[in-house]
Amino acid sequence: MELGGLHHVTAVTADASGNVAFYKDMLGLRLVKKTVNQDDVSAYHLFYGDEVGHPGTEMTFFDWDSAGPHAPAAGMVSVTAFRVPGREAVEWWEKRLDEWGVAHGEIQEREGKAVLPFTDSEGQRLELVDDTANDEGQGVSPGVPWEKSPVDVGLAIRGLEGVTLALRSLGPTADVLAEVMGFRKTGEYSEGGHRGAIFEVGPGGPGAEVRLVEQPDLLRHRVTGAGGVHHVAFRTPDEEEHVAWRERLVEAGLNVTPVIDRYYFRSVYFREPGGVLFEIATDGPGFTTDEDSEHLGEKLSLPPFLEPHREQIEANLKPIQPVKGRVSR
Ligand code: ZN
Repeated sequence: MELGGLHHVTAVTADASGNVAFYKDMLGLRLVKKTVNQDDVSAYHLFYGDEVGHPGTEMTFFDWDSAGPHAPAAGMVSVTAFRVPGREAVEWWEKRLDEWGVAHGEIQEREGKAVLPFTDSEGQRLELVDDTANDEGQGVSPGVPWEKSPVDVGLAIRGLEGVTLALRSLGPTADVLAEVMGFRKTGEYSEGGHRGAIFEVGPGGPGAEVRLVEQPDLLRHRVTGAGGVHHVAFRTPDEEEHVAWRERLVEAGLNVTPVIDRYYFRSVYFREPGGVLFEIATDGPGFTTDEDSEHLGEKLSLPPFLEPHREQIEANLKPIQPVKGRVSR
């Protein structure tokens, strides 16, 4: 039993309209599902991804418009990286970010791969990474960019590449990754003078990397503000293995939720010892379970148990408005 890599990353926005402009219009991801947070139906839950939001390509947001700006903390995902096909694509993206007025750093090298750091409209740290370097035909299959995206499919983002976790110390998290979750340590690096370690799971490579950075100077807290990541989810293929994963986590002494039916996938959540909220989610049934693939994300989708309350839920949601020329702060 092996995890299949990253499933999705869920972050927080306080500006749904600006968020759609950044991730759909500028980054060219498809808004594959517009639904509500099942635990707080006054908030949108927006899912972006490839042509159908295949697992491993999804970046999702809770829209909490009263959230303050995110304060960097230990025990959190500090950077989310997207994969693009080649160094030329990374260089093309640098120009696109400039054209859209998006703040970014210089192209860097990490493990022989070109990495372009940038921030979203609420200061969230993101990266674009060349997923072809060191590619030996292994790894997580890339997603399929949406052909109606404003970005050419040959340059487009084709999924999550990895996440970086900020931790007060590497040891406890590294132990759970390696001993419970089946990750392998593949390298060490340094970021901003901090010690870092690289882990991968399942097929490894792009789509399966978790990087740990030791930042003992950061405080640990659990409040995710706008521009912060709420949790990161990992893939398991089916319900049978999902249940087995839950049992393994319980046996390891981790405090795991019951299996929750998120309608588009099944989930369990637990906090790893460094403080980061982890989820394990099934690959299916996916986003075409309640909408035709041609029309994903066009209207508000509700799971069956919320459908009877649609009128009230819709009345409480702020409409998402088109935004022009305001994708950066
Ligand atoms: Zn999730």
